[in-house]
Amino acid sequence: MRVLVATRNAGKVRELARLFAELPGVELVGLDAFDELPDVVEDGATFEDNAAKKARELARASRLPTLADDSGLEVDALGGAPGVRSARYAGAHGDDAANNARVLSELEGVSFEARTARFVCVLAFADPAGPLGEHVLLARGTIEGRLLEAPRGEGGFGYDPLFLPLGETRTTAEMPAAEKNAISHRGEASRAMRELLAAYLARRELPYDFAD
Ligand code: IMP
Repeated sequence: MRVLVATRNAGKVRELARLFAELPGVELVGLDAFDELPDVVEDGATFEDNAAKKARELARASRLPTLADDSGLEVDALGGAPGVRSARYAGAHGDDAANNARVLSELEGVSFEARTARFVCVLAFADPAGPLGEHVLLARGTIEGRLLEAPRGEGGFGYDPLFLPLGETRTTAEMPAAEKNAISHRGEASRAMRELLAAYLARRELPYDFAD
């Protein structure tokens, strides 16, 4: 069965392909395999809303079961911001340097102890032509840490140079990708979704009369 991974980021498709490799009979395809799919507006109040909306709309448009994600950074001293607005916190979508600068300026004067934050990742799987109907499978992963006062490290992306996981001496931008994946919000959500999908796909194989 082909499953659409709703991201234009080739790195994320590769990362998810590795995590889902053991699911028998599943081939992940990226959005690039399609010429015309709608751009989904991520206007939800929660990561769950956005991931579910993306998965549903792209599953309908592509006619494939679809896996979508939404992720971001929650900073406690900023009341959970930037949250679902993480990618465009400073205005332009995906301007990592400007986003980091805005968070740093808003945290000026906040002590290290109080700079607690977490990355959150939610994965949603939609399969409107199968037994799920309008429902989606949802999996959430988090990683707790603190934000430094200046960026450190060249790896990763987004807020990684500022993010020091609890109990770590390196930021997530200073870790090899495999090490970050092992402890990250995306890794945790992916492992949880893999379990949900394995159970769901086994059930989907059954004639529906027997599946209920
Ligand atoms: P999206 O899930 O691709 O929409 O990403 C949302 C935004 O959250 C990204 O642009 C980053 O700013 C931030 N973000 C999500 N995951 C990470 C991560 O693993 N490291 C650093 N920033 C992240």
